[in-house]
Amino acid sequence: MSACMACGACCACFRVDFAVYELDDMGGTVPSGLAVEVNGSTARMRGTDHVPIRCAALTGTVGEQVGCGIYEWRPSPCREFEEGSDACHRARSRHGLPQLKENLA
Ligand code: SF4
Ligand code: SF4
Repeated sequence: MSACMACGACCACFRVDFAVYELDDMGGTVPSGLAVEVNGSTARMRGTDHVPIRCAALTGTVGEQVGCGIYEWRPSPCREFEEGSDACHRARSRHGLPQLKENLA
């Protein structure tokens, strides 16, 4: 089982920016109501541009049990974020969570 289901730190750590064409009202999948427009070409997940950062689509409690309310429709940065990456470990440590073990499946 993925460590992510008991984590969610990356969804409460970074700005989540993506191209406006990923918004559902622009032909994409991300619900526009959960995003804010940054400029004409970039949108941002609501909740990720002010402290404390927490994406509006995140459910549950970071470090305990979490879910993404728009998992199937989430934007590309979320799809590309890698469990076990440096950024993942940075997010986890900011939330006081231990490093993941190597090759955790
Ligand atoms: S910080 Fe890493 S382990 Fe936690 S949810 Fe994000 S990718 Fe998964
Ligand atoms: S859209 Fe989902 S996966 Fe992406 S930051 Fe928000 S809660 Fe996390």
